[in-house]
Amino acid sequence: MIRFQLKEKLSAWLMKKIAYQIKVSLTIAALYAFNSIMAYEIDHLEPPFWWVNMEEEKLQLLVHGKNISFLQPQIEYENVEIISVKRTENNNYLFIDLSIKNANAGSFDIQFIRLGKVEAEYRYVLRERSLGSKDREGFDPGDVIYLITPDRYANGDPRNDSVDGLREKLKRNNKDGRHGGDIQGIIDHLGYIDQMGFTQLWLNPVLVNDQKTYSYHGYSTTDFYNIDPRFGNNRLYLELSEKAKARGIGIIKDVILNHIGSEHWWMDDLPSDDWINNGGNFINTNHIHESIHDPHLSIFEKNLFTDGWFVKSMPDLNQRNELLETYLIQNSIWWIEYANLSGFRVDTYPYVDKNFLSTWSMRISSEYPNFNFVGEEWNNNPTIVSYWQKDSPRHDNYVSFIPSMMDFPLQSAIVKGLKEKESWNSGIGNIFRVLANDFQYGNPYNLVVFLGNHDMTRIYSELNERLDLYKMAMSIICTIRGIPQIYYGTEIAMSSSSDHGELRKDFPGGWPDDEKDAFTGNGLNETELEAQSYLKRLLNWRKGNLAIAKGDLVHYPVKDNVYVYFRNYQKNLVMVIVNNSERAKTVYPNQYNEIIKGRTKGVNIINNRLHYLLREINISGKSTMILEIH
Ligand code: CA
Repeated sequence: MIRFQLKEKLSAWLMKKIAYQIKVSLTIAALYAFNSIMAYEIDHLEPPFWWVNMEEEKLQLLVHGKNISFLQPQIEYENVEIISVKRTENNNYLFIDLSIKNANAGSFDIQFIRLGKVEAEYRYVLRERSLGSKDREGFDPGDVIYLITPDRYANGDPRNDSVDGLREKLKRNNKDGRHGGDIQGIIDHLGYIDQMGFTQLWLNPVLVNDQKTYSYHGYSTTDFYNIDPRFGNNRLYLELSEKAKARGIGIIKDVILNHIGSEHWWMDDLPSDDWINNGGNFINTNHIHESIHDPHLSIFEKNLFTDGWFVKSMPDLNQRNELLETYLIQNSIWWIEYANLSGFRVDTYPYVDKNFLSTWSMRISSEYPNFNFVGEEWNNNPTIVSYWQKDSPRHDNYVSFIPSMMDFPLQSAIVKGLKEKESWNSGIGNIFRVLANDFQYGNPYNLVVFLGNHDMTRIYSELNERLDLYKMAMSIICTIRGIPQIYYGTEIAMSSSSDHGELRKDFPGGWPDDEKDAFTGNGLNETELEAQSYLKRLLNWRKGNLAIAKGDLVHYPVKDNVYVYFRNYQKNLVMVIVNNSERAKTVYPNQYNEIIKGRTKGVNIINNRLHYLLREINISGKSTMILEIH
């Protein structure tokens, strides 16, 4: 009986063992079969190349391809070492962390191996950095930024108006369609831009936006590493940067960290479940900018501001994912280094995860300590805007390294102030009161000041199409503290409704059959010509003026509709008188002796007329006078 039981146990054990061995052999056979029919291809590897001698000695590669996570990467190159390989729940992605400390420029193969066999390869290049790259100077208060919507400026290459493989084709009679403007068009008109007196170019985004409709504005990125072929290519963007630089003009790249376009290749194959906020499903942000600071707001609403999507066609990125965080940081650095940029303008700044912004801005600043970048916080309250700027005093312990912000509060104060009647809480007194809030900024002189941009009704129309108000606004923006930014077309007093398609209309002369040509002046009416020559004079005077570039701002309270301020740097002094009354006014310069200090002459920079400061100065209604004091 006992022997029988033992025999039975033995045979059961034997059967189990045989079954197990068959299972193992089958699995191995299946794996071999799987492997032999498996063709591994790398669809994306980003960044596509990198540089040696960067401040950060680590580099993370995103590798995308069918079942790529089953492969093991291997590199043999001196001082390049794989620190770790990260995988997500999606087998089509691999993230490789490299140390490239002390590596020399050169190239090597990244081999992707499975069961001892090389299944895929990528030739990776580490480039030498260009001389002085780290210490590059960003845009500064001596500059004036020209903002261009590339699709709407000039068509330098009609061959790329529609491109095979990209969804949206040319349709110039559709105000929301593509009109064919491109990077070549901007290169062709660098002479005009230079002569006007602009020294920096901010282009609305030029990366691939392969959306079905409404793709021309560029804010729906579908490829982080390539220029949209309808604008040109990476090489042409670099050429623009080089040719602009030869004229002393810098390039500011529009950076979008908050969202991508719904046609981005990630959306077909998400790298991880948490790559896009709200599980990849559309929920609209509440657009409540105060969310970040409001002590009373519900947690749900707080989170909705940053995690909700801007619009349905713009999936909202979850920058709290560390792999995505590194991806975005490296992408920003890649473009500075590749295209030799002098600045960033960062879209929808407060909608991005604030801790990510802290790290991102720190990394940019540590790679490029003198680089300048400006964030868009569309809010008219200086308390809300100043929160983000580097070195601003704050209500919490948030750390930020972004050197500049767009000065929306000042924009609103100028536009309203010039149209309103003066009273204790209206008129240009609001400009004075907004500037009094400068104590809240880490550096108010480094703010970007502007009268309009690609999202706003044209300033000429905002100012009721009055050339006198237009000239006043231009004078203020070019002499007040900060770095002026001017939207293309403003120089010829273009008008518009608030409709985006219309306010981003084509610049006259950018297309061969245009009746008017703003580049040459042919066909422009009197108002357009006068606006253009006024701004040209103002900008060219401003260029190289030390009082404007480096001077302190000292201002006086608005009295009897007149606002007076000075820009003061060493021996350089500029006096600006703004008369917001419809009637002429008289100003007695001896009131300002604290600043003028006995100097006796002032030269009007527009008409060269000399004014003696010991006598009164008469200023006509609704006008500005800019005097260089000697
Ligand atoms: Ca074109």
